[in-house]
Amino acid sequence: MMSASPFPVDAHRHRRLHYALWAAQWLLGAALVVAGVMKLSLAADQAVTMFPWSADVPLLYTITSVLDVLGGLGVILPSLTRIAPRTTVVAAVGVVLLMLSAVAFYLIRGEASEIVANLALAAAAAVIAWGRGRVAPITAQLPDPERMTGTLPVASPPAEMMIFQLPTGTYLTRAAFAVTGGAFADQRSFASTAILVQHPKGDLLIDAGFGAGADAHIESLPSYRRSPHDRAETASAQLDAVGYDRQRLLGVLLTHSHWDHVSGLDSLDVPIWMTAEERRYAADSTSDSVFDSVSRNHEIREFTIDGPAYLGFPRSLDIHGDGSVVVVSAAGHTTGSIIVFIALPDGRRYAFIGDLTWQLDGITGRLEKPLLMRKLADSDTKQVRRDMERIIALQDRLQVVPAHDARGYVGIPLLVTSPVGSR
Ligand SMILES: [Zn+2]
Repeated sequence: MMSASPFPVDAHRHRRLHYALWAAQWLLGAALVVAGVMKLSLAADQAVTMFPWSADVPLLYTITSVLDVLGGLGVILPSLTRIAPRTTVVAAVGVVLLMLSAVAFYLIRGEASEIVANLALAAAAAVIAWGRGRVAPITAQLPDPERMTGTLPVASPPAEMMIFQLPTGTYLTRAAFAVTGGAFADQRSFASTAILVQHPKGDLLIDAGFGAGADAHIESLPSYRRSPHDRAETASAQLDAVGYDRQRLLGVLLTHSHWDHVSGLDSLDVPIWMTAEERRYAADSTSDSVFDSVSRNHEIREFTIDGPAYLGFPRSLDIHGDGSVVVVSAAGHTTGSIIVFIALPDGRRYAFIGDLTWQLDGITGRLEKPLLMRKLADSDTKQVRRDMERIIALQDRLQVVPAHDARGYVGIPLLVTSPVGSR
C-alpha cells in the first residue's frame, strides 16, 4: 500500500520524512481503528474487566470508542485519496486532544499507570499533525514542476502539413470519476475524436474514435465500463465526405488500444501503428476485447521508440524525420501508451496525450485521476504521475490535448473543407 501513497508538494525535498509520516499514519490509524472496534465489540462485563471506568461512564466509553475509529480513519483516508487531504491534519489534532483528555481523565482517577499508551499515541498524532500540516503536506494537486523554458526541439514541418479533428461521438461521465476532487454533479461529455495528420510523406490518423460497430463494441464491455454515449459520423465516413484519397493514409497511430480509441478501425482498412508493448497489452486484456475484434484484418506495424530524449521524455521516435510528428513512450495508462507531439509549419505545437489524463483539469489543475479510477484504469500509476508532471511542465509551450476533453481540440479545424490530396 505504501508504494501507492500520493506524493505531497514537498516530497522531493522531504522524501524520508514523507515516508516516515506515512508509516506513522498507517500505524496510528490502524491502532486506533483496531482499539475502537475492539472496545465497541466487547460485551459490557468484558469491558468493565478491561476498562473499569466504563462501568462509571458507559456513554463516555462508547463515544470515545467511536472517536478512536473516526480518528484512525481520518489520519489515513484523506491523505490516501487526496480528497480534502487537510482533514488528516484536523484528525491528527483531534487525536492529540482525545489522548490528552484520556491522560487527564486517568490522572484524576488516580490510574496513572494507564497513561503510557495514550501519551505514545498523542505523540505520534502530534508528529503527523506537524509533518502533514507544515513540512510535508499532502495536497489534492501534484507537485508543480519547473516550467519548460528555452527553445522547443527543432522541427521543420513541410508547408503543406495540416491537422484536422474528426469527432466521432461523446460519452457521459462525471467529473468525480475523472479527476481527484471532481464534483459528482459536474457532468462531463467525453470526446472520442480522431486526428488526421496530413504530411507529404503520408498521412496518419491519431486514434480512430467510435466506429460503425461502436454500439456492439460498448455492449461487449463489462457493465462497469459502459456509459451513455452519443455517436457522430465515423472517421471513415468523414474522410469519404470530403473525397479523401485513402491511398494517402499510412495508418492509424494508436495512443493506446482501449476500445474508445480503436473502435473506428472497424471501417478503416489501413495498417495499425503501435508498439510491441501495446500489442501485448491488448492481447492480455480480459475486460476489453474490442481491439482484438477490430484489428483482425489489419496489418500491424510495430514500431520501437529508440530515438533521443525529447521534451523531458527519455526516448522518442521521429516519424517523418523532420520533427513534425514525434512519438514518445508514456507507458502508464497502458503498458504501451504513447504521446504524439505535432509541430505545424505555422509554429503551432500540440501534445496528443491519449488518456494520460481524461480531462484538461488534470494538466491545468495538476489533478490525477481519482484514486479508485487510477487503480482500475491505469497500469502504472507512478509512471502516469511522472508523465503528467512532464506534460504539466510543457503546458505553456504547446497545446495539450487529452483524448477525451473537447476543450483540448479548440482551434483544430474540422474536416469539412477539402484537404490536401482530395480529388
Ligand atoms: Zn480512452
